[in-house]
Amino acid sequence: MTTELPTPSTDRPAPGQLTFRAPRRGKAPTHLADHDLAGRKDWARELGIPAFRADQVSRHYFERLVTDAEQMTDLPKAGRGELVDGLLPPLLTPVRTLSADDGATLKQVHRLHDGAMVESVLMRYPGRVTMCISSQAGCGMNCPFCATGQAGLTRNLSTAEIVEQVVAAARALRHGDLRGGAEESDEGGGDVQEALRVSNVVFMGMGEALANYKASLGAVHRLVEAAPEGLGMSARGITMSTVGLVPGIDRLAGEGIPMTLALSLHAPDDELRDELVPINTRWKVDEALDAARRYFEATGRRVSIEYALIRDINDQAWRADLLGDKLNARGRGWVHVNPIPLNPTPGSRWTASRRGVEQQFVERLLAHGIPTTVRDTRGSDIDGACGQLAASV
Ligand code: SAH
Repeated sequence: MTTELPTPSTDRPAPGQLTFRAPRRGKAPTHLADHDLAGRKDWARELGIPAFRADQVSRHYFERLVTDAEQMTDLPKAGRGELVDGLLPPLLTPVRTLSADDGATLKQVHRLHDGAMVESVLMRYPGRVTMCISSQAGCGMNCPFCATGQAGLTRNLSTAEIVEQVVAAARALRHGDLRGGAEESDEGGGDVQEALRVSNVVFMGMGEALANYKASLGAVHRLVEAAPEGLGMSARGITMSTVGLVPGIDRLAGEGIPMTLALSLHAPDDELRDELVPINTRWKVDEALDAARRYFEATGRRVSIEYALIRDINDQAWRADLLGDKLNARGRGWVHVNPIPLNPTPGSRWTASRRGVEQQFVERLLAHGIPTTVRDTRGSDIDGACGQLAASV
């Protein structure tokens, strides 16, 4: 025996270090939302529950957004609690809720069964509600400008843990927790109902969804399947965002689900992108863009290129031109660019581009005929904006 103890591995990854496999941790309990309808019935039978009960509970969960056994009066009173506990084990415990933008943005911090933390953000816009969800606790992709990446990967989320974020938010909306919710519901009318539902889901919270492919795709299925199998959302309202895991992009293109792909590019040249998005050391800019183009060809969905504008780092006019050229070299009308002013994160020396520089970057892209819209940065004062999610309590 030596007196020297092994140094516990520090939480923070070394610069550029990629982590694909999460450290082993307790798996989340199986939940109804992990399965499609057929799988649910099989699973219920295995638990010794009649299959039609899975249908009933699915209606409560996906249609009524109810998890409280007492409200499920169509289930036999004797054993109701255990039945519901078995099918809907609690996965997320709300830790806190923060609101910003006059109440139109809500960040929810959840604790998972093993103590890991995740965040999700709900944003209300006129006529739509966008929800930003996490697919992993932490992230292994280590982008130096992103708070989540700096914290490293804790673990993958299960399908149901991803779906639960949306259901929890949908429930909050229904209860009028988001500004406009309560007062508008008094007015009645169809549009209002629409505005009170989660219409868009973006996988832009914590994690790299394509590095947790199976669970993330399962969640997409649950979001788009018609009730009571799922939430019945339109696939067009769902955006999968990736650092550029090329095999994952190709796999997604073959799924036959018309969701949107967002590619976090942040630089059009390998030299800079190797630093900003370390996965670029595996799949280069051209390979990522080729995969994005293939995604468009397979799905007909216009791809979004995400580009966080970082002052004096990636915001030069020549980089806008190079980006425009590279996109046009792959065709017209297949892509649009979303520049995002960099959100500050702790410990990062970088900051957002100057206004005029940002404007010039946009104009250059427009001059290349590339549709370009600067994304708003909701929730930055509650660390709820892109790249700020770190689930510190
Ligand atoms: N892993 C996925 C989802 C990450 S978050 C991906 O990389 O696409 C969603 C977007 O926010 C990504 O485009 C990411 O690069 C961007 N982002 C991360 N940190 C940011 C920051 N500090 N400011 C602005 N955007 C940021």
